[in-house]
Amino acid sequence: MRQLKVTRAVVGAEGPARKKQRSVASGLLDAKEMTLLFTSSPAKRPRRWVVNAALAAFFMIVPPMVILFGARASAPPTVWISAANVLRGGDGSPLHWSARSYDKLLGGLLADGFDEGSCHSRYQSAMYRRNAGRKPSPYLVSKLRQHEALQRRCGPGTVAYSNALEQLRSSKSDGIGSQECKYLVSISYRGVGNRILATASAFMYALLTGRVLLVDPSNEMSELFCEPFPDTTWLLPPGFPLTTYTNFSLDTGESYGNMLKNKVLRTDIGDVPAGVQLPVFAYIHLDHDATQEDKFFYCDEDQSLLRDIPWLVMRTDCYIVPGLYLDIGFREELARLFPEPDTVFHHLGRYLFQPSNHVWGLITRYYDAYLATAQRRVGIQVRVFGKQPNSPALLEQITKCTQRHGLLPELLTGTDDAVMPPAPSRKSTAVLVTSLKSWYSEKLKNMYWENAAITGDAVSVHQPSKEGHQHFGAKLHDTKAWAEIYLLSLTDTLVTTAWSTFGYVAQGLGGLRPWVMYRPENDSVVPDPPCGRDVSMDPCFHAPPFYDCRLKHGADTGKIVPQVKHCIDMSWGLKVVDNS
Ligand code: GDP
Repeated sequence: MRQLKVTRAVVGAEGPARKKQRSVASGLLDAKEMTLLFTSSPAKRPRRWVVNAALAAFFMIVPPMVILFGARASAPPTVWISAANVLRGGDGSPLHWSARSYDKLLGGLLADGFDEGSCHSRYQSAMYRRNAGRKPSPYLVSKLRQHEALQRRCGPGTVAYSNALEQLRSSKSDGIGSQECKYLVSISYRGVGNRILATASAFMYALLTGRVLLVDPSNEMSELFCEPFPDTTWLLPPGFPLTTYTNFSLDTGESYGNMLKNKVLRTDIGDVPAGVQLPVFAYIHLDHDATQEDKFFYCDEDQSLLRDIPWLVMRTDCYIVPGLYLDIGFREELARLFPEPDTVFHHLGRYLFQPSNHVWGLITRYYDAYLATAQRRVGIQVRVFGKQPNSPALLEQITKCTQRHGLLPELLTGTDDAVMPPAPSRKSTAVLVTSLKSWYSEKLKNMYWENAAITGDAVSVHQPSKEGHQHFGAKLHDTKAWAEIYLLSLTDTLVTTAWSTFGYVAQGLGGLRPWVMYRPENDSVVPDPPCGRDVSMDPCFHAPPFYDCRLKHGADTGKIVPQVKHCIDMSWGLKVVDNS
């Protein structure tokens, strides 16, 4: 039986500076290579992880379940505007899909009243989206407006914020439920895709728990994205008292998991009694290497304990939202916010991540030059790693996937060109390839030049950047990565690489259920089938718990809640699906 309950808070006795810190960041290894390293070395795993791995293998196959879930939300009022200056084709018609009139506030998702010049993408992005996306529920819209008010009331520069900082400095909690404002600091690290999913996850948790979200400004967060909340900032200002917070890791003594393990916190005595002093902050470690104790975070009784801790600092490189569905207390609210459950990241992503003006320039110039005039746009994300050699098998996987599913036309051999239809009836397809390497797009481009498409379509292949390998902390590199994720989200059909958060973000923003290229067991063998249609556009959670909080034992968490299933690209991962 699990022993969980609060006895007392002793954080003040051992300040964070005295704790041994271990940085998990490394400029030498590719982020995904680090994941593989962490997750494939049994010697480095805590014992609980071994249990998780065994459960993961056991729960690889999930029988489909069909449920009825909620009614669709009625559409909130929309604000339509006309676009005066739009790019036009030769016949004078607008090249952008919805340029004549478009809903610039995305069905009320975005707040009005921002200075448009400070963030052009906020008001122009709808004009670039052929797929207008799903409508947010009226409840989500009202909750976002309430949350913005909270961010203004308690955010940096307010008296409440100064008081909360003072409380953190003195390490004295005022007691249960007495805080006017509570905070969640989200650590930003790893690649752009990971950072976006981590921030969206933190925001979802902040929304559910009424916490002010403050984002660690490391890794160019302020240069990639506009401010999402009007008249305040979401960036954690300099001078934060927990000076080493960006180094918090698995070993940090104040992590929730370690405080449970060391019995600093317990949840086996029911509700927190009045007068009990909780720590003024807890570090929430939900990274890929989180232990079972860390993952008790996803249980109701642990949430009732965390509710009263004024400051939480969270590190994750995952999309934890499927885990939040496991908490009964959150589930009802999530259902109200997202009557279409597979749209969680779709809405939160479009709400939070507006490209900064610099990035928006990269996106729109590329789109207008290479994609706008095509009748069909196909995005292909080819995630490769620094030292991985060019792979003919991966190229074959790409062509097999795209041609088998009619995403790209098959090719005629050279002598058959005479059967092509006349030029005016040919369709144009622009293929946007994103990859660190240029080899794959060059091969595709040559294929569609040297051979005619069976349909007679004109197929053009474009790749914005060829960065070679992942760089850490390089501004231009990150802005290009973000621009390319966004460009992928503007395509009509998307092919992604398994396990990649880069692709997950593109599919969620675009409202696209992608074709996912399966991860090969052997690099030289093309998986059969080469790809499959994803079950939902919501991202996959790579490090979920395997524990039933109600029954208090290990379980297949892909079978507990109808809205949460296993991912097609990672058998132990979890994702939110719409089964209605
Ligand atoms: P993930 O590692 O695939 O889950 O995606 P992340 O975005 O978190 O990390 C990968 C990082 O590698 C990106 O953020 C970029 O810095 C770089 N990268 C990987 N693929 C590409 C690509 O196709 N284009 C660009 N510009 N950068 C890429």
